[in-house]
Amino acid sequence: MTYIHNPADHPLLDSFEAAHLRDVVAFARDEVAPGASARDGVEKGQLDWETVAKGHSLGLLRMPIPREQGGLGLSQLGIALTMEELAAADPGMALVFGATGLFQTPLLICGDPKLQEKYLSAFVGPDPVLGCNAVAEEKNGTDLVLPQQAPYAQDMTTARRSGSGYLLTGTKRYITNAPVATYATIMANVEGAPGSSGLTCFVTDLEQDGVTRGEIHDKVGYRTAPAGELILDGALVPEENVIGDEHGGWDLNVAIGNLTRVTCAAISTGIARHSLQRAIAWAGTRRQGGRLLHEHQMSARKLADMAARVSASRALYLDAVLKADTVIPTPAYEPAVAKMVADRAAIDNADAAMSLIGAAAYQREDGMDRVLRDAYGPRIYEGSPEALALVVTDELFGVPEVR
Ligand SMILES: Cc1cc2nc3c(=O)[nH]c(=O)nc-3n(C[C@H](O)[C@H](O)[C@H](O)COP(=O)(O)OP(=O)(O)OC[C@H]3O[C@@H](n4cnc5c(N)ncnc54)[C@H](O)[C@@H]3O)c2cc1C
Repeated sequence: MTYIHNPADHPLLDSFEAAHLRDVVAFARDEVAPGASARDGVEKGQLDWETVAKGHSLGLLRMPIPREQGGLGLSQLGIALTMEELAAADPGMALVFGATGLFQTPLLICGDPKLQEKYLSAFVGPDPVLGCNAVAEEKNGTDLVLPQQAPYAQDMTTARRSGSGYLLTGTKRYITNAPVATYATIMANVEGAPGSSGLTCFVTDLEQDGVTRGEIHDKVGYRTAPAGELILDGALVPEENVIGDEHGGWDLNVAIGNLTRVTCAAISTGIARHSLQRAIAWAGTRRQGGRLLHEHQMSARKLADMAARVSASRALYLDAVLKADTVIPTPAYEPAVAKMVADRAAIDNADAAMSLIGAAAYQREDGMDRVLRDAYGPRIYEGSPEALALVVTDELFGVPEVR
């Protein structure tokens, strides 16, 4: 097989990051990829802690935390290239590590040293600890992604002032890592503010009174990453656990979303690349009509389109990374465009690989069904194609107050 991608060779990585990427390539290939099918088949809510612990020993649960605080202090470039590698091996495993990074992101963006000391130090210890970021609810999905839909949020999780803290009440759904995480960032609406205009970000320990882990979701894809509900029933959170400002949740939500979409685009690129690699391996050995499949022009076109989608997706997420590493806050346009293109590439390449490989890919034991199922996940989280289209057109034409 001649398809080669060496992320450690990227010229903008420093030598520490390049060494990290070499470790990640080996970890993804030797530890993550071999167990992907087995993890896909586990009971809902189960986590492969052994592989997570191996990833933790490489620093995958502390990638954005500065080196002086014991983290890897990776640039967004280093994180995104890591995510592509993990996702090419098993996107669900990328999500387990990525959702923990998502928990850490608001703490790092806001820079409160006391909160960082309290909530980031656990991630640099010897044992793996997971975090999650809880935004979505049964009635509120995209209405908590696009600020112009904030007035339409219904029956949101509320934060009621109580003494020197807040009582959080509501149910968060579809939260990656919720069944297994120790900590969560939670978006809640301060009581009295309409819709989600009082959105405020809280950080909390999940092992406390008033917090229970509800339904564990039986997802069709990304089964490596447990997901579920968080039920808040008057959970007391002290006021110093507000990340940023009271009512400042939307600004933070948008900043986190723009930054996270870069990583999500890298994950989708990894999924698209996996399908490409499978298709190359097959089309380079399978003969029909007296020649190898890739020697038939129609198949060659399919393979070339797949390769172009991977290259285009990677180029766009690397362009977005450049912005994320140099512009604060991360602009909206580049990450949204990168995610739109890469999410589509993940689906289209999975479809093309199924078509090229044929009946062999249609057998359960082949594992392509997992790739197909995983490929549909990215177009739901961190902005569906429709939501991202609005982000892009808002950049082109300006943001209307309320649609
Ligand atoms: C694998 C996975 C992991 C996830 N992890 C997390 C997590 O860790 N934390 C978290 O908070 N959430 C998580 N989510 C949930 C995710 O954030 C929501 O699914 C997402 O916000 C969309 O909400 P929804 O699914 O309720 O869809 P809805 O918002 O109900 O949207 C349904 C459809 O309507 C479309 N739509 C909505 N608004 C518009 C509009 N204005 N114009 C045109 N079309 C529109 C959407 O594009 C979509 O096609 C995860 C989801 C998945 C699938």
